[in-house]
Amino acid sequence: MKDFISILFIEDTEQSNQEIKNRLHQSDFSAIPFSQNGLDSLGLLLKAHKWDLIFVDLDKEDLDLSTILEILDQQEFITPLVLIGSEIKNDVLYDAMAAGVQDYVAKDNPDRLLPVVAKEIRNLRKQRKYTQTATKNQIFDRILTKSTNEIFLMDPMSLKVIYANDTLLDNLGYTEEELYGLSAKDVIAQHDLRSVFEEIAPLYRGEESSTTFQFDRKRKDGSTYPVEIHVEVTQEDTRQLLMGISFDISRQVEDAKIIEKQKQKTRELELNNKYKSQFYANVSHEMRTILNSTLLLTNILKENRYENLKDDQLEYLHTIYHSNNSVLELLNEVLDLSKIEAGKIDVRLEEVEISDICDRAERLFKPIAREKNLAFECTVNGIQNQHLKTDRLRLDQVLNNLISNAIKFTEKGQIRLEVFKSNGSQKNRTVNMIAFRVKDSGIGIPAEKQKHIFESYMQAEGSSTEKRFGGTGLGLAISKEIAHLLGGKITLESEPGKGSCFTLFLPSDSSDELAQQAEKGKLRIEIKPDIESKPVEIPEKETEKSQSTVLLVDDSSIHNMALKEFLGFSINKCITAESAEEAYKILQSEIVDCIILDMYLPDADGKEVLDKLKTDEQLKDIPVIIYSGKSLTLAEEEELLRKADAVVQKNVNSYRKLLENILEKIG
Ligand code: ADP
Repeated sequence: MKDFISILFIEDTEQSNQEIKNRLHQSDFSAIPFSQNGLDSLGLLLKAHKWDLIFVDLDKEDLDLSTILEILDQQEFITPLVLIGSEIKNDVLYDAMAAGVQDYVAKDNPDRLLPVVAKEIRNLRKQRKYTQTATKNQIFDRILTKSTNEIFLMDPMSLKVIYANDTLLDNLGYTEEELYGLSAKDVIAQHDLRSVFEEIAPLYRGEESSTTFQFDRKRKDGSTYPVEIHVEVTQEDTRQLLMGISFDISRQVEDAKIIEKQKQKTRELELNNKYKSQFYANVSHEMRTILNSTLLLTNILKENRYENLKDDQLEYLHTIYHSNNSVLELLNEVLDLSKIEAGKIDVRLEEVEISDICDRAERLFKPIAREKNLAFECTVNGIQNQHLKTDRLRLDQVLNNLISNAIKFTEKGQIRLEVFKSNGSQKNRTVNMIAFRVKDSGIGIPAEKQKHIFESYMQAEGSSTEKRFGGTGLGLAISKEIAHLLGGKITLESEPGKGSCFTLFLPSDSSDELAQQAEKGKLRIEIKPDIESKPVEIPEKETEKSQSTVLLVDDSSIHNMALKEFLGFSINKCITAESAEEAYKILQSEIVDCIILDMYLPDADGKEVLDKLKTDEQLKDIPVIIYSGKSLTLAEEEELLRKADAVVQKNVNSYRKLLENILEKIG
C-alpha cells in the first residue's frame, strides 16, 4: 500500500514544477501536491491542513524566504521545508539551512527528489512518534500522580522507594526527597514487618509474579493506617523492580469492626437468651417435680381413705389441689415456651388420621362447650380419609389451646372446627397444607391487638382479660412457635363483638421442615413428648397388695414421700433412698424386688448406678425401672433399655404407668 503524503508547493507560477510533480505521482508515495502561488493566505492554508512536506521554489526573486520562514514559524507543527530551484546562490542556501530549511533539490538534478522526500518523511514520522509517546507519557504521568491509589516503585534489592505518587506521599506525610532515601521497612508498621516480607517472599523466589495482601502502613509521624496492596514484579530495561498499588482501607476495617461488634453482641444476646431459657426450663422442671408430688399427696388425702377428715378440711384440700393444678398448668406452659426458646422442644413425627383429630376434639370439647350452653361442631371437608405426617401431641396441644380459647371467650353461639385442604409455599415451592380453622362467635379481638396476642404473656385487654377470663397469655405464643417448628403458621381474622377465626396451617408432611429445624438446633426430634395432664387415679380401696419390696432412689424427698404413699396402696413395702450410696447400703441389708431409679442423683449419675447394679452378681436380677424427668431421645432410651427393665418418664400422669410397670416386673 502506498503512503499518503500531502505536499505543499509554494511557487510563483502554476505548473512551474510540473516535472517534479509528475515524478512524485509515479513514486511509491501517493503524494497530493498542492500549489500555492504567492504568499497571500499562506498562513490560513498552513492552519487549515497538516502538511507533511513543503517545497519552496526560489527561482523567482519575488518569493522571499525569510517571510515564508516567519509564517511557518507561527504554525503549531514542525513541517520540513525543502527548497527547489535552478540556480540558487550558495549564500542564500547557507542562510536558508541556518534558518531551518531541511534540504535543497536542484531542478536539473530531479533524481534527488524522491530520496529527499523519503528521507524527510522518515524523519517526520520519527518526530511525530516521539511527540506522541511524549504526550502519552505525560498523560500516564498525570494519571499516576493524581490517582487516588498509592502507587510506587521499589528496588527489590535495596528496598528503597524509587518512585511514589502524590497520594502515597500525602498519606505518608513525606516529601519526595525524604521518601526516596527511605527503605520499605520505614513505611510498614512494626507489627506487620514480618508478615509483609513473608507475603512478598514468593516474588523473590520467582514462584509468583504478583501478590495481594493487607497490612498496616507507618506514617512519618509514627501513626499507622491499614492498606490493601497489590505488588507485582516489573521490568525496567534490564533491571527488575517491584511495583505496588495500594489503597487505604481504614473505613472498610472500621466498618468490619462495627459489624463484628454487632454480631458479637447478637451472639451474646442469643446465648444469654438461651441460658435464660435453659434456666427457666430447669427451674420449672424442679418446681414441677415438687408440684406433682404435692398434687399426688393432696389427691391421696382428698380420697379420705381413713375417713378421718372433716368436710371443711376436705374442701381445703380440694382448693389446694385445684390451685396446685393451675400452677402446674402455668408451669407446663412456661416450661414448654422456654424449651422451645432453648431449642429443646421434644417432637415426634407420626402418621395422624384427620378423623382421629376431630373425634378427639369433639369428645373433649363438646361437654365443656355444653356447660356454657355453646354448640361445638367439627367438620372435615373432602379429606376424611386423609392423614398427615406431623407431631400428634403438638397438633393436639395447639388445637386444645385454640378451641379452649374460643370457648373461654364466647358467651353465646357456637364454636366450629373446620378441617380442609390448602396450598402453602415454602422456600418458593408449593406444598400441600391442611388447615384447621377454629371459629367462634365470641367477644372478638380489636385489630390493633391482633398481632400482639401471639407474643408471650400478651392478652388482648391487658390485665382485665386475665382477671375476667383467666389464663396466662402464653398459649398463643407457644402455639405460634409450634406451628412454625412444624413448618406451618397460624392466621387470625377477628371482629370485636362478632367473633374470631384462628386458622392453623400445617404441611401434610412435616418431615423436611423438622429435619431442617433439628439441624439448626431448634429442636430435638425423636423425643417422647408428654404434655397431657390428667388427674392421678388412686388405686381402688379393695386392691390386693403385692407382698413385694420396692426401693425408690430419688434425690427429692417430697417426691419419694408422695410416691411411697401412692405405691403404698398396691405394694407392701416401699423403701426410699436419696442417694446412690444410701441405695447400695439398703441393698446390702434388704431383699428388694424392684428398684425405681432416677437419672439425677446427688452423688452419681443414674447410668453409673444402673451399670453397677447390673454388673453385681448379687443384684443384677433385680428389675430396675428408670423413672426420671430427663428428656430422652429414642436412642438414649434404647441405650438405657439394654440394661434397665423399663423406662418411664416422670410427670403428673405417669404415676399410674409406673405402678403398672412395677406390678408387671414383680409379677
Ligand atoms: P391466655 O388465653 O392464657 O390468656 P393465649 O395466648 O391463649 O393466652 O391468648 C392470648 C390472648 O388472646 C387472650 O388473653 C385473649 O385476650 C386473646 N384471645 C385468644 N383467643 C381468643 C378468642 N378466641 N377470642 C377472643 N380473644 C382471644
